[in-house]
Amino acid sequence: MQDNLQDISYIINHLGEDHASYFNAIAPPIVQTSNFQFETVDAMRTAFADEMGGYLYSRGLNPTVDILRKKLAALDGAEDALVFNNGAAATFAGVMANVKAGDHILSVHHPYSWTVHLFDQILSRFGVTVTYADGSDTESFLAQVQENTRLIYLESPNSWWLDIQDLRQIADFARPRGIITIIDNSFCTPLYQKPIELGIDISMQTATKYIGGHSDTLGGVLAGSAAMMRKIFLSEYLCAGNGIQPFNAWLLLRGLRTLPARIDRITASTQKVLEYLKTVNRIESLIFPLDPSFPQYELAKDQMSGACGLISFYMKAQLVEEIEKFCNSLKAFRMAVSWGGHESLIIPKCAGTPQADFNPLNPTHRMLRLYIGLEDPDFLIRDLEQGFNGLVLL
Ligand SMILES: *Cc1c(COP(=O)(O)O)cnc(C)c1O
Repeated sequence: MQDNLQDISYIINHLGEDHASYFNAIAPPIVQTSNFQFETVDAMRTAFADEMGGYLYSRGLNPTVDILRKKLAALDGAEDALVFNNGAAATFAGVMANVKAGDHILSVHHPYSWTVHLFDQILSRFGVTVTYADGSDTESFLAQVQENTRLIYLESPNSWWLDIQDLRQIADFARPRGIITIIDNSFCTPLYQKPIELGIDISMQTATKYIGGHSDTLGGVLAGSAAMMRKIFLSEYLCAGNGIQPFNAWLLLRGLRTLPARIDRITASTQKVLEYLKTVNRIESLIFPLDPSFPQYELAKDQMSGACGLISFYMKAQLVEEIEKFCNSLKAFRMAVSWGGHESLIIPKCAGTPQADFNPLNPTHRMLRLYIGLEDPDFLIRDLEQGFNGLVLL
């Protein structure tokens, strides 16, 4: 088998697998062990000297996790990767490894909620300051860089509003200044956006979403240079003990096998649902990065080869009850957090605030986000139709 790291099929179906070492089984084993034994003191000494060099204890390296790790690094076009118990743990380790007291972080505005918590509630206790800025205008974003900025934190597309950052321009600015760049690439996955190729130092993604794909496990990934992954492994990864467990790694490997097929299907269905939503008069406006109506459409086309299954929209509503009635009436779409699984989802922004605070003049209060899963798109559209039709009577 040719070692072609450009070939997604090779990476997903072959890379990192050594069938002869496990009875020629097609499915790799779940190596459910905490520790590994040695024949000689010398072999043990070697393992102690470099925990990244071999198997010693499963808080560090584990063979099942390693298969996944190799595939995820290659998909990202990175030298190495680390797989964490979930996405939040990956972000935590990637950020903690690269800041110290007195440092400043420039972050894109409203990143993922637990990233905000890390910045505002945890790092603030250790003398690390954070500035949030709109990343859609590169010049004004980078104008927020300070003398002590050590890290630029990106999320493109950004949660809910889906606005994007010019990754190449930001990386070109940061590299020569020694500022580390991290992106949360969960929205696109490395199949549709390759931040490392654009010059970003660390590509983070939650594997809970598209990689797992079945809403039955959590996982998180950091990918980057071998030196950066080594630095994080020997410190934050081993110390916090937040690496993924073998069984969850095995579930993610299982999910990964079908990732391209699922992403293709989700992309096609999302386009169909999007075209339907454009005809709905109850919708004030739609947000989808690869739709020509998107303000940064040209940049999106340039740095993303797809946009997968998330669509945000603003509903026309005077009362919070209208949004609630619509959401409550859906049957195909389930109301739940997360995304990337087989099942289509809806989440209204108004679920995050008390009903009495609803203000129809604040568009954010009238915002909803759909995730399009693997169902037949016509099945989903019929459900949305009955939901919108039910509002006519209100
Ligand atoms: C879900 C999510 C995360 C966190 O991942 P977990 O696996 O849930 O910890 C981070 N970023 C984005 C954009 C997410 O949607």
